[in-house]
Amino acid sequence: MKHSLPALPYSPDALAPVMSRETIDYHYGKHFQTYIDNLNKMIENSPYEEMEIEEIVRTAGGAIYNNAAQAWNHDFFFSTLSPTPSAMPAALEERLVKDFGSVAGFRAELTKAAATLFGSGWAWLSEDKEGKLVISQEPNAGNPMTKGHKPLLTIDVWEHAYYIDYRNLRASYIEALLGIVDWEKVAARL
Ligand code: MN
Repeated sequence: MKHSLPALPYSPDALAPVMSRETIDYHYGKHFQTYIDNLNKMIENSPYEEMEIEEIVRTAGGAIYNNAAQAWNHDFFFSTLSPTPSAMPAALEERLVKDFGSVAGFRAELTKAAATLFGSGWAWLSEDKEGKLVISQEPNAGNPMTKGHKPLLTIDVWEHAYYIDYRNLRASYIEALLGIVDWEKVAARL
């Protein structure tokens, strides 16, 4: 199948000033689009041509994995953000308290994972195979689905995600980004 860029679920200037329209234009409109275009080219006349992106992420390696996972990760990342962020549902709060001690403890651990990831990649909150909520650092196009985890939330820490708005200040980007997370969407993935 031919993959295409999903529609952005909000207006391109709706997340400003946390994420400017210029960042959306480049990050969503160019980087995300390029992963989709590369994926479509690479899977032509291969067994991957018939698969959904999630199945490619779970089964492919090399450049096909990289482009499929980057496409999946970006769709997941942008669809978790909202210009009208929701309060955290109690069901999610209970799980975070159970596995991280408190919501503040969870935020601190996720922030640390995102801030200290060396180079390009993603910080994830996911549910492991035993049903425990865990935070992980995944370099480059990493995705916890490859370890059998269920992804709940991710922070893109590639420089293209924050350099236009925050320059080198990755920590400022992470803190601001956590203010536009749609926690109802995160909870719905549990
Ligand atoms: Mn990105």
